[in-house]
Amino acid sequence: MTVFETHNAKETFQCAFSLAKEARAGQVYALSGDLGVGKTVFAQGFARGLGIEDYVNSPTFTILQIYEDGRLPLYHFDVYRIEEVEEMEEVGFDDYVCGEGVCLIEWAERIQEIMPEDVISVTILKDLDKGPDYRRIIVE
Ligand code: ADP
Ligand code: MG
Repeated sequence: MTVFETHNAKETFQCAFSLAKEARAGQVYALSGDLGVGKTVFAQGFARGLGIEDYVNSPTFTILQIYEDGRLPLYHFDVYRIEEVEEMEEVGFDDYVCGEGVCLIEWAERIQEIMPEDVISVTILKDLDKGPDYRRIIVE
């Protein structure tokens, strides 16, 4: 387990950027944390770390965005609006997990029952005692 502490969005971006440099095909990053905690900021930094130039935003309305112009393909999921895990099969979740690229899944805790066993979990937490922009990022 590794814990990172960040004090603004840029530091979270940078943290994810560095992690992406080590990323390998087939990895699944499960991002958990409340709304507005910085999961998308993390995804943006991660994408940039893979060399992806496209602007990355939250794919809330599409569930999945695919970016193929980086060192590895990035499959960016936001499963916030998923009501039944069957919806994940419809977007081809099984094909992307353990595929050619890296999966980043925002709100992964919502699809716990279909998550593969071997995931890298990234939990982002606030601690308001340390200020509104402080985040603890736990990677395990
Ligand atoms: P989520 O995807 O988890 O709902 P977003 O990444 O869309 O959250 O939004 C996070 C918001 O919090 C952004 O407006 C960002 O600027 C702000 N923010 C403030 N401090 C931080 C920090 N340390 N890390 C990440 N985001 C931060
Ligand atoms: Mg988001």
